Amino acid sequence: MTTTHHTPDLFALSEIRGPVLRPGEDGYAEEATGFNLAALHTPDVIVVATGTDDVVTALRWASATGTPVAVQATGHGANFPIDHGLLISTARMTDVQVDPERRTATIAAGAKWRDVLKATAPHGLAPLNGTSTDAGAIGYTVGGGLPLLGRTYGYATDLVRSFQVVTPDGTLRETDPTHEPELFWALRGGKGNVGVVTSLVTELVPLRTVLGGGLYSSGEHAEALLTAWAEWTRTVPEEMCSAFGVLRLPPIPQLPEQLRGRFWARVAVTWTGEPAEAEQLLAPIRAAAPVEVDMVEEMPCTDVDRIYIEPQDPLPARESCSLLRDLTPDAIGAFLGQVGPDVPDCPLLVAQLRHMGGALSRPARTEDAVCARDAAHFLESVAVIGAPPDAEAVERATTSLHAAMSPYSTGRTMVNIHGTPGDATDRARAWTPEVHDRLRRAKQTYDPSNLLRFGHTV
Ligand SMILES: Cc1cc2nc3c(=O)[nH]c(=O)nc-3n(C[C@H](O)[C@H](O)[C@H](O)COP(=O)(O)OP(=O)(O)OC[C@H]3O[C@@H](n4cnc5c(N)ncnc54)[C@H](O)[C@@H]3O)c2cc1C
Repeated sequence: MTTTHHTPDLFALSEIRGPVLRPGEDGYAEEATGFNLAALHTPDVIVVATGTDDVVTALRWASATGTPVAVQATGHGANFPIDHGLLISTARMTDVQVDPERRTATIAAGAKWRDVLKATAPHGLAPLNGTSTDAGAIGYTVGGGLPLLGRTYGYATDLVRSFQVVTPDGTLRETDPTHEPELFWALRGGKGNVGVVTSLVTELVPLRTVLGGGLYSSGEHAEALLTAWAEWTRTVPEEMCSAFGVLRLPPIPQLPEQLRGRFWARVAVTWTGEPAEAEQLLAPIRAAAPVEVDMVEEMPCTDVDRIYIEPQDPLPARESCSLLRDLTPDAIGAFLGQVGPDVPDCPLLVAQLRHMGGALSRPARTEDAVCARDAAHFLESVAVIGAPPDAEAVERATTSLHAAMSPYSTGRTMVNIHGTPGDATDRARAWTPEVHDRLRRAKQTYDPSNLLRFGHTV
């Protein structure tokens, strides 16, 4: 596969209804900049798509000129620079249509989970969004989508009924389990390797409220709380979704006042069962360490950003992840040896273990490319990258944490939270060798010229 750098002939793009922007033009920098400021995109041209037609035209042009293509909705996954070629921005394509009878939503390419929740909530229905409703629904879902409510309902991609997708040759295709099944398979966990999705249809779950929030103890209690939580996760029903994290929160006004500028050990929970039952279930966690801030409460599904208090403003972030087989006492020791209270200068903002299992461990109705169903826990780390030498310290701490946890890992990552895509061997870690080979074959079919070559490619 060859790399071609073209100076694009923009005349052919004149049919595009949305703005077509070149470096230096008004709006170019705003459109290129995403949520994660770690990677600065400088493509030769940005097509700001207003609908499916624009995506088709842009890809036909890219195919005719051999121009490499990337797609961005929100830039939550912007952890690699797009430094040439065409960037298709789907940020204007935010339409969400709900069919309450069928319990489905049709979600356009640029919709954030927040847009979807706004449309589904009046019907008492909810999608399988993740910990931040600011993330794009499509980018998240094509990466498998590890939801807040994953133990109860499975991966977001498990509920997808169909995609409308434009393959790099500019062909608009509809795919579902019976139409182009290999394309349907590759779009559920294979990330953006085979096409640009313009919309998808997903099932929704009947849910108006959840009980959720964080139980915050001082960071010095991390070992007691983590040990109790690890034990507790072996016993809880599938309606209980939770994570243990150590958080080194900066003293910034964007955070709730009582949390600012402190080192915390936190158990965050989301409970989809009867609220009254949760009290008893949470007792062992509340007893494991003194809870200084208790934010667990019943809330509408539209308010779930309160549970993990993810950043809502753009920042330069370095994320990484590992899938763990089991959280043994040795694994707990290794984790705390990297990020616990005895590592006072640890530069990671968050190091968090999410409880997997339940519906996350069962196969999807229709086979897909998600390779995380054998994991008991999911480790994710996030740091805000400052200027050097901070950047090097962040890189060292990130690498060191995941290396220390490798004896307990399945050896794989999750493509959505893999972080900076490295070389081919590093990128392949998001899938089993069999799924990776099959994805490569699907890419050969749908993107033989490797136009979609940026980022986490196979
Ligand atoms: C604060 C925060 C919380 C998060 N929480 C979770 C979580 O709980 N669970 C989880 O699974 N992930 C989570 N993520 C990761 C998130 O799912 C990924 O960053 C995802 O890529 C976001 O999609 P996006 O479209 O918003 O990002 P973008 O940066 O716009 O796109 C990222 C990539 O997604 C693909 N993509 C986007 N649009 C399309 C399209 N139309 N067609 C084909 N491919 C496309 C492309 O490969 C693109 O490079 C979180 C990220 C952040 C920053």
